[in-house]
Amino acid sequence: GGADGQYDVLVLGAGPGGYSAAFRAADLGLSVVLVERYATLGGVCLNVGCIPSKALLHTAAVIDEARAQADHGITFGEPKIDLDKLRGFKDGVISKLTGGLAGMARARKVTVVQGVGEFLDPNHLSVKGDDGKTQTLKFASAIIAAGSQSVKLPFLPDDERIVDSTGALKLKSIPKKMLIIGGGIIGLEMGTVYSTLGARLDVVEMLPGLMQGADRDLVKVWQKMNAPRFDNIMLNTKTVGAEAKKDGIYVTFEGEGAPKEPQRYDLVLQAVGRSPNGKKIAADKAGVQVTDRGFIEVDRQMRTNVPHIYAIGDIVGQPMLAHKAVHEGHVAAEVIAGQKSFFDARVIPSVAYTDPEVAWVGLTEDEAKKNGIKVEKGLFPWQASGRAIANGRDEGFTKLLFDAETHRILGGGIVGTHAGDLISEVALAIEMGADMVDIGKTIHPHPTLGESVGLAAEAAEGACTDLP
Ligand code: FAD
Repeated sequence: GGADGQYDVLVLGAGPGGYSAAFRAADLGLSVVLVERYATLGGVCLNVGCIPSKALLHTAAVIDEARAQADHGITFGEPKIDLDKLRGFKDGVISKLTGGLAGMARARKVTVVQGVGEFLDPNHLSVKGDDGKTQTLKFASAIIAAGSQSVKLPFLPDDERIVDSTGALKLKSIPKKMLIIGGGIIGLEMGTVYSTLGARLDVVEMLPGLMQGADRDLVKVWQKMNAPRFDNIMLNTKTVGAEAKKDGIYVTFEGEGAPKEPQRYDLVLQAVGRSPNGKKIAADKAGVQVTDRGFIEVDRQMRTNVPHIYAIGDIVGQPMLAHKAVHEGHVAAEVIAGQKSFFDARVIPSVAYTDPEVAWVGLTEDEAKKNGIKVEKGLFPWQASGRAIANGRDEGFTKLLFDAETHRILGGGIVGTHAGDLISEVALAIEMGADMVDIGKTIHPHPTLGESVGLAAEAAEGACTDLP
């Protein structure tokens, strides 16, 4: 801090939003203190989210890929699964990254204080360490980046066979039969890992379809490929009760897909969403308004109702994604440093890192239909991609949506291997205001899956009668 012990910026929470904000603020010459409850930096994403899930999904994809080679004349033995070692690999990935963050904080002279932070007033935060000792930090500006936690269904009993994503990532054992409550991205990613390692899956979803938010035609491809993993996909169905017995967790359902009898599971994963931590930081003492659900509302400069206090990441709302948090963190830090920054992203991509991957950005076709937006669609089925065929994975497709009048790109969806990497080009095209000719005339390397983006744009051009 400065001479009076005051920091220019206090950042509460060291997830992707918090550490990005802290590092940017330090790079801009401000004195920064970063407060984090846990011993490692990185928040949910690095410790119990994005990164460990991807480490396990990578291993699962290698196993599935090896098995699929039987169709190409190469047969491997069944994999021998050493869970301790796999867990060790995953933990090693995490510590490499969190260690890297600690080094980056040191290099930038960001002060890291470990403990639980609560506001005392608009310029002070108390931090209670693991040892029970409390210290008070004084700040000129603050950035709240306290993130979110998984929602717990109140009627589920306390039992180690009922876990959230954090528990599932611990990978204690592989159950024979697993229930995923909530058919969103997190549940289906974890389900992919467990099923490849040997579990049979059921999934229950309150809404009429899995992976809400993605176009149904993308999800259909994923679902067809993944049908063998599931015994039962229960849609328009709720979990209403569960009983822990010696031989398993017996779960009761209600709704369209509900079995009449309670079903027995070895492991139950709750993945019904995440709730923001806004109510746990004594925000009211700083005068910061928090909604009933625990969100903090901000303007386009990430300012709360208190002008020198900002908020970013999961705690300010959907989509709860790491890349959104990072960009918001940069904006908040830059504004505090006196720059005229705004969060003005046109689009934020979403990716399910399942197999195949499902990725989308901007306007979806379902939204266009619902809102009567006139679009031209360019579709490129991967059955026509040399690379996808050579990979033995031609089930996917690339879809681009263009404004019917201006031919500018409005959105895109991709299902197939590496869809998450491919969607970035579509996001860039939307940010740049590219039209179908810009994308179609860009030379993409052959043979790549990336070509499918250029070819989808060409398909749209071909379908367009009013091009000059
Ligand atoms: P968080 O990462 O939640 O960090 C908040 C930090 O604040 C935490 O470290 C917490 O300990 C700390 N904190 C909270 N309150 C206090 C307090 N009072 N005092 C001190 N410290 C406090 N997103 C993606 O973009 N891609 C993915 O592939 C992806 N996969 C995911 C997989 C799983 C299983 C989960 C659970 C999430 C995944 N997410 C993914 C979402 C992503 O993790 C979040 O969007 C992201 O971590 C949000 O960042 P954040 O900075 O807002 O907060």
